[in-house]
Amino acid sequence: MAKRIGIDVGGTNVKIALVDENGKIIYSNSVPTYANMGYEYTVNNIKQSIKDLMRETNTTEKDIQGIGFDFPGQVDYKTGVVKLAPNIPGWVNVPIAKMIEDEFHIPTRIDNDVRCAALGELKFGAGKGCENFVCITVGTGIGSGLVINGQLVRGAANAAGEIGHIKLQTHGGPICGCGDTGCLEAFASGPSIVAMAYEYLKGGKSAKFRELAGDGEITPYIVAKAAEAGDPVAKRIFEIMGEYIGMGLVSVINLLNPEKVIVGGGVAECGDLLLEPIRRTVASRAMVVQRNSVQIVPAQLGNSAGVIGASMLAS
Ligand SMILES: [Zn+2]
Repeated sequence: MAKRIGIDVGGTNVKIALVDENGKIIYSNSVPTYANMGYEYTVNNIKQSIKDLMRETNTTEKDIQGIGFDFPGQVDYKTGVVKLAPNIPGWVNVPIAKMIEDEFHIPTRIDNDVRCAALGELKFGAGKGCENFVCITVGTGIGSGLVINGQLVRGAANAAGEIGHIKLQTHGGPICGCGDTGCLEAFASGPSIVAMAYEYLKGGKSAKFRELAGDGEITPYIVAKAAEAGDPVAKRIFEIMGEYIGMGLVSVINLLNPEKVIVGGGVAECGDLLLEPIRRTVASRAMVVQRNSVQIVPAQLGNSAGVIGASMLAS
């Protein structure tokens, strides 16, 4: 049976998994990234964890069909070079695929986190059997992986899918991480949920999320818990988030006419709290043919989407 290795590189940890041809994780482990020690240090740790994986699963280089990496940042899929990973300092123009191939002689590919998630959902998750879909991830930021005619879309310079930077406002608006203003991501993402919660409390009003947070900080998770407990302010915050995300999606749905929009990422784990206002917005604002042919569904692979999708890059 064909086996592949998927490696999900994050700012804190590197997750590594051996994945079979059905998308099942046979073995997984994680090691600290230690980004401040420099990329060579992290790469050596990754090489060691590949060796550990092979030892623990009784596999050799011949048994492994490919190795795939998932990075949060700008990567060059064709050359296997990490251009820039903002959350992993020091990873600038790192030829990671070559470094791994030189050591193990196994075909190695890389891609960014949202495209790996989309590929995972395409092969084994909510996008299985779907020719055209958008996989959107809502967390600290908002990203997306696009699948058109059964293929991942990477764009001219590997930069396609930046749904978080669709403009919702012509002039002014909140400043976005990209440097512009008025982007979807600046209106609706994890930090915006927290900002709206604190803004509400400024007037000295009480809210369930303040009570749930105790002396600690308010997080999107706490606002979601308050909404689930029936707190009207928390519910309204999620409705506003869903409306913004829905508005961004309306443009994409009108443009691409996808069969599905698959919603994943940390904030999306709040489920229908976020999905329902997205569905309502799309139902009322997208064009009729497009809205009647699209389903808005939760992602199925959760935290494993990165390693599972990455493992399928080299096939
Ligand atoms: Zn932006």
